[in-house]
Amino acid sequence: MRKKLEKPLRMKIRTGDTVMVLSGKDRGKRGRVIRVMPRENRVVVEGINLAWKHQKPRLAGQKGTKIQIPAPLFASKVMLVCPHCDKPTRVARVRGEEGRLFRVCKRCNEMIDATK
Ligand SMILES: [Zn+2]
Repeated sequence: MRKKLEKPLRMKIRTGDTVMVLSGKDRGKRGRVIRVMPRENRVVVEGINLAWKHQKPRLAGQKGTKIQIPAPLFASKVMLVCPHCDKPTRVARVRGEEGRLFRVCKRCNEMIDATK
Protein backbone atom coordinates (compact mmCIF):
# COMPACT_ATOMS: atom_id res chain seq x y z
CA MET A 1 0.00 0.00 0.00
CA ARG A 2 1.10 3.44 -0.79
CA LYS A 3 0.99 5.72 2.21
CA LYS A 4 1.14 9.43 1.67
CA LEU A 5 2.62 11.56 4.39
CA GLU A 6 1.19 14.83 5.62
CA LYS A 7 4.40 16.70 5.13
CA PRO A 8 7.04 15.99 2.53
CA LEU A 9 10.12 14.50 4.16
CA ARG A 10 13.44 16.21 4.00
CA MET A 11 15.19 13.68 1.90
CA LYS A 12 18.90 13.21 1.64
CA ILE A 13 18.63 12.03 -1.91
CA ARG A 14 18.02 14.31 -4.83
CA THR A 15 17.34 13.90 -8.50
CA GLY A 16 20.54 13.23 -10.41
CA ASP A 17 22.32 11.58 -7.48
CA THR A 18 23.96 8.21 -7.87
CA VAL A 19 22.74 5.72 -5.29
CA MET A 20 23.48 2.15 -4.33
CA VAL A 21 20.67 -0.28 -3.58
CA LEU A 22 20.99 -1.93 -0.16
CA SER A 23 18.31 -4.58 -0.29
CA GLY A 24 15.91 -6.38 -2.54
CA LYS A 25 16.48 -7.95 -5.92
CA ASP A 26 18.75 -5.16 -7.12
CA ARG A 27 20.98 -5.17 -4.05
CA GLY A 28 24.46 -3.88 -4.78
CA LYS A 29 23.49 -2.18 -8.01
CA ARG A 30 24.00 1.49 -8.70
CA GLY A 31 21.87 3.89 -10.61
CA ARG A 32 21.02 7.51 -11.15
CA VAL A 33 17.98 8.94 -9.37
CA ILE A 34 15.43 10.11 -11.88
CA ARG A 35 12.67 11.09 -9.46
CA VAL A 36 12.23 11.67 -5.75
CA MET A 37 8.85 11.39 -4.03
CA PRO A 38 9.26 13.09 -0.63
CA ARG A 39 5.66 12.52 0.42
CA GLU A 40 6.02 8.80 0.00
CA ASN A 41 9.66 8.52 0.98
CA ARG A 42 10.36 6.84 -2.31
CA VAL A 43 12.77 7.28 -5.15
CA VAL A 44 12.84 6.13 -8.75
CA VAL A 45 16.25 4.96 -9.91
CA GLU A 46 17.32 4.38 -13.48
CA GLY A 47 17.51 0.65 -14.24
CA ILE A 48 16.55 -0.39 -10.69
CA ASN A 49 13.44 -2.22 -9.52
CA LEU A 50 12.24 -2.74 -13.07
CA ALA A 51 8.66 -3.78 -13.45
CA TRP A 52 6.74 -4.87 -16.50
CA LYS A 53 4.04 -2.52 -17.50
CA HIS A 54 1.36 -3.54 -19.91
CA GLN A 55 0.55 -0.98 -22.46
CA LYS A 56 -2.76 -1.09 -24.22
CA PRO A 57 -2.85 -0.83 -27.98
CA ARG A 58 -3.22 2.74 -29.12
CA LEU A 59 -4.71 1.93 -32.48
CA ALA A 60 -7.23 -0.67 -33.47
CA GLY A 61 -5.53 -3.73 -34.86
CA GLN A 62 -2.34 -3.03 -32.95
CA LYS A 63 -1.14 -5.31 -30.22
CA GLY A 64 -0.59 -4.26 -26.65
CA THR A 65 3.03 -4.34 -25.57
CA LYS A 66 4.91 -4.93 -22.39
CA ILE A 67 7.44 -2.31 -21.46
CA GLN A 68 9.92 -2.27 -18.62
CA ILE A 69 9.91 0.78 -16.39
CA PRO A 70 11.64 1.47 -13.08
CA ALA A 71 9.18 1.33 -10.18
CA PRO A 72 9.56 3.56 -7.09
CA LEU A 73 11.40 2.02 -4.15
CA PHE A 74 11.76 3.12 -0.57
CA ALA A 75 14.41 5.76 -0.04
CA SER A 76 15.66 3.81 2.96
CA LYS A 77 16.64 0.98 0.63
CA VAL A 78 19.20 3.09 -1.15
CA MET A 79 22.30 4.90 -0.04
CA LEU A 80 23.86 7.93 -1.64
CA VAL A 81 27.14 7.29 -3.43
CA CYS A 82 29.63 10.07 -2.76
CA PRO A 83 30.99 11.56 -5.99
CA HIS A 84 34.37 12.15 -4.34
CA CYS A 85 35.22 8.88 -2.62
CA ASP A 86 32.87 6.77 -4.79
CA LYS A 87 31.46 4.87 -1.82
CA PRO A 88 27.96 4.59 -0.40
CA THR A 89 27.86 7.05 2.45
CA ARG A 90 25.78 8.82 5.03
CA VAL A 91 25.39 12.54 4.67
CA ALA A 92 25.57 15.49 7.02
CA ARG A 93 23.92 18.81 6.41
CA VAL A 94 25.97 21.93 6.72
CA ARG A 95 24.74 25.46 6.41
CA GLY A 96 26.75 27.61 4.02
CA GLU A 97 27.53 31.29 4.31
CA GLU A 98 24.36 32.46 2.58
CA GLY A 99 22.23 30.12 4.69
CA ARG A 100 22.00 27.47 2.01
CA LEU A 101 22.18 23.87 3.11
CA PHE A 102 24.84 21.67 1.64
CA ARG A 103 25.27 17.98 1.94
CA VAL A 104 28.60 16.69 3.13
CA CYS A 105 29.96 13.16 2.86
CA LYS A 106 30.54 11.59 6.29
CA ARG A 107 33.41 9.51 4.97
CA CYS A 108 35.62 12.03 3.23
CA ASN A 109 34.01 15.29 4.46
CA GLU A 110 33.79 16.60 0.92
CA MET A 111 30.91 18.76 -0.21
CA ILE A 112 28.46 16.73 -2.28
CA ASP A 113 26.52 19.65 -3.76
CA ALA A 114 28.03 22.25 -6.04
CA THR A 115 29.27 25.26 -4.10
CA LYS A 116 27.80 28.07 -6.11
ZN1 LIG B 1 33.00 11.00 0.16
